Amino acid sequence: MVVKYTCVMRSKYFKLSEFACSCGCGTNKINRTFLKILISAREKSVDYNGREIPFIITSGYRCENHQESIKYKKRNPNSSSEHTKGLAVDILVKTSRERAVILSALMEAGLTRFGISHNKNGFSFIHTDMGDMVENSDKPMGVIWTY
Ligand SMILES: [Zn+2]
Repeated sequence: MVVKYTCVMRSKYFKLSEFACSCGCGTNKINRTFLKILISAREKSVDYNGREIPFIITSGYRCENHQESIKYKKRNPNSSSEHTKGLAVDILVKTSRERAVILSALMEAGLTRFGISHNKNGFSFIHTDMGDMVENSDKPMGVIWTY
C-alpha cells in the first residue's frame, strides 16, 4: 500500500512532529501506513457519552541511540523495539475508561498487538504496534502484554 505523506499533514488529529524521536535528534521515520491506521483508530475514539478521547503520543519513532539509552531500564533488554522501525506508538491514558475506549478503537482499526503499562501517579500508557503486519516478522499477532 502506498500512503501519501499528505494524509497525515491534513489530519485534524495529529501533527507529524508528534511522532518524531524525543531524544532531541528530531528524526522521524514513523511508518505512513501505521499513521493511517492510527488516524482511522482516532476517528473511533469516542466514549459512550460522545466525548472524543484524544490520542496523546508519548513516544513514536525512536532512533537507535534513544532506544539504547532507555534499554537498560527495561526488564527485557534484548528484545527489539518496533519503535526503532517506526511501527509503534505509546498513547497516554489518564483514566480506566479512556483506556477502554482507546484500546477498543485501536482494535477496531485492525491493530492486534498491545502493551498496557501500570498506572503511575494517575497516568499510564498503551503501547501498540504493527510489527505483526510487516513481511518476515517474528512478532506474533493478537497479544496484550503488561509493563
Ligand atoms: Zn533520537
